[in-house]
Amino acid sequence: MNLRARAGWAVVPTVLSLLVGVSAAAAGTTPAAREPQYDLLIRRGHVIDPKNGTDALRDVAVKDGKIAKVAERIDAREAERTVDASGKYVTPGLIDLHAHLFTGPEGAYADGFQSVAPDGFTFRSGVTTAVDTGSAGASNFAQFKKNVIDRSKTRVLAFLNIVGKGMAGGDFEQDLNDMQAGPAAEVALQYPEIVVGIKTAHYEGPEWDAVERSVEAGEKADIPVMVDFGANRPERPLAQLLTEKLRPGDIYSHAYSGNRGELGADGKLNPGLHAGRERGVLFDVGHGGGSFAWEVAVPAMKERFQPDTISTDLHITSMNGGMKDMANVMSKFLALGMPLKDVVAASTWRPAQAIGHEELGHLSVGAPADLSVFTLEKGRFGFVDSFGFRIDGKQKLLCELTVRGGEVVWDLNGRAAQVWKPGSGQGDGEH
Ligand SMILES: [Zn+2]
Repeated sequence: MNLRARAGWAVVPTVLSLLVGVSAAAAGTTPAAREPQYDLLIRRGHVIDPKNGTDALRDVAVKDGKIAKVAERIDAREAERTVDASGKYVTPGLIDLHAHLFTGPEGAYADGFQSVAPDGFTFRSGVTTAVDTGSAGASNFAQFKKNVIDRSKTRVLAFLNIVGKGMAGGDFEQDLNDMQAGPAAEVALQYPEIVVGIKTAHYEGPEWDAVERSVEAGEKADIPVMVDFGANRPERPLAQLLTEKLRPGDIYSHAYSGNRGELGADGKLNPGLHAGRERGVLFDVGHGGGSFAWEVAVPAMKERFQPDTISTDLHITSMNGGMKDMANVMSKFLALGMPLKDVVAASTWRPAQAIGHEELGHLSVGAPADLSVFTLEKGRFGFVDSFGFRIDGKQKLLCELTVRGGEVVWDLNGRAAQVWKPGSGQGDGEH
């Protein structure tokens, strides 16, 4: 009932007003402030907001697509719509730092069938911002933008591939002639709101050119570089990449793959990883279909080598394999003993910082109202790596509800929906 409807009670005759005393009294004592001032209120959830150091029960109110208030108690009558999040965790909307979203009919990752349409796979796991990592390059970025980015509710950002044709597959990604810093930087500067970095991936040659030209483009456009180090070549060792070639703020993805010497024969991490971290190089999970190994992750976590950023490397193969989705990859790090608040930080505020979008990844008043509600389920769960091996865990994050720009875009159990009663009708239908 809104204030206008309530106001009618104030003029009913005295006798009748006794019958409806409670409502009349409420109307009489209801100042204008009771007019719902928030669009949405998520109540009684345990908020984990690493940027603001919040790890406690809080109510979160949303207005006009922005976070309007976070407090221990916010009156439900002040909100148009209320979601009860008791027993749940409320986090900033997740930022998946490594995904492949340039879907289309022609190729695999670039304009292809391995990439996935963002909205179909992001919201259901709590992701509100997804960063495409190099599916497109300078020559097909405009197509990616038009076909996917501009048509998605998910906030899609992108690392631009140093290869002009992006992840066009096979020989295209080995062609040094198509890896030019100039055009890559130019397109990055043309779309500063979307392009957040430069990506090199899948390069198999012995030269450093793919990395060096990416860094050159990153320098020109003043953005970080993300590296998928391609084939493991003795001519360009991993430790040298991390201690000499990359700059602080550049990102090494697939950090727990074991595919490029991340783990030594002694069962310890390549000291280059620790040295790289010391210099400010960031380490991203990028789980994917072939890039996450318990064989590496378990000893790495024993050395306290937690990821800076947790990400999926989302594509058709990975999501149907051991990776599955963001919530599942986060749960794997819980199974490895990483504290929940660190897992949330690595999936929200840390990636926001890594891509220089510090307006994202937190629930400060005035920030975009992107947030997610999770159940931390207890039981026995199996988690499979990219190589078919399972470890068991006792808890698993399940995404209950996702809000993007103030709009409920995923609601597993209808927590934001009205309860149906006979005669409720059909309303306005599903939005
Ligand atoms: Zn990838």
